[in-house]
Amino acid sequence: MIAVLGSANLDLVVTVERAPGRGETVTGRTFATLPGGKGANQALAAARAGGDVAFLGAVGDDDFGRRIRELLADAGVDVSGLAVSDQPTGTAHITVDGTGDNSIVVVPGANGTVTALTDAHRATIDRAELLLLQLELPLDLVVEAARYAHAREIPVVLTPAPAVPLPEELLEAVDILVPNEHEAALLAGIDDPIAAAEQLTRLCDDVVVTLGARGAAWLSGGETIPVPAFPVQAVDTTAAGDTFVGVMAAGLAGGLQLGGALHRASAAAALSVQRPGASSSMPDRAEIDAFLA
Ligand code: ADP
Repeated sequence: MIAVLGSANLDLVVTVERAPGRGETVTGRTFATLPGGKGANQALAAARAGGDVAFLGAVGDDDFGRRIRELLADAGVDVSGLAVSDQPTGTAHITVDGTGDNSIVVVPGANGTVTALTDAHRATIDRAELLLLQLELPLDLVVEAARYAHAREIPVVLTPAPAVPLPEELLEAVDILVPNEHEAALLAGIDDPIAAAEQLTRLCDDVVVTLGARGAAWLSGGETIPVPAFPVQAVDTTAAGDTFVGVMAAGLAGGLQLGGALHRASAAAALSVQRPGASSSMPDRAEIDAFLA
């Protein structure tokens, strides 16, 4: 079983010709609500790819929270560890202007109430083959969870997003670190993503830096192994990284070595970027198999 301890949000997306200035009101073009949050996205991607997944986190006692719970449950994710908080479900308020630039306000809401491991969290992590973490829950909790799993020899996968400076005690408890190029650069303080990833292997055994349409690079034991992207026409790369990590985890839990799991992850991400949306664009196991056949 793959345990995912992370965020669940509803993204509220408006498109506008021009974003409003201070004190200004503008008329928007479209509005959509999309389930998101890196934790929920990774859980969904792993479950669609055939993984046995348990999600740990919190939503509010509201329609947004019920929608996220239903989406995860429908995909076969165990949501018994998804708590109902007295805070509203986390939201991301996204404004996309006519040039495609966006501005985002994130309100953590219920996600911010997950501040310490509970006995139920520990019981789930104890049974897990892999723990997936990101940085959209309080940092102290992420550190506690990583250290707890690491002490029990349960492999820990961390997506260090959003990028913030991280304590060494966290990175030392991480087995596979999966930053994108910006996150790698920020964490290592080095612009070149490969050199940055190399630096990060001093603390984590395996570092997989994702490079968008250029694929990814897996750094381990002094070696740099390319993970080629599949050449496709991308229409929406939202959650490409979360699809990549979720499918990698499903591969590992299914018995693949990391190289094989990364190959499947790259295929799944290539499938997802050809479709709009985040959770709605994630492929299932059969689609990934067909793409690779
Ligand atoms: P993030 O979404 O976290 O910024 P990336 O943009 O680096 O992550 O994408 C993650 C992975 O998704 C890449 O390593 C690659 O395998 C795949 N991917 C992203 N963009 C494309 C693309 N345009 N074509 C094919 N694969 C892509």
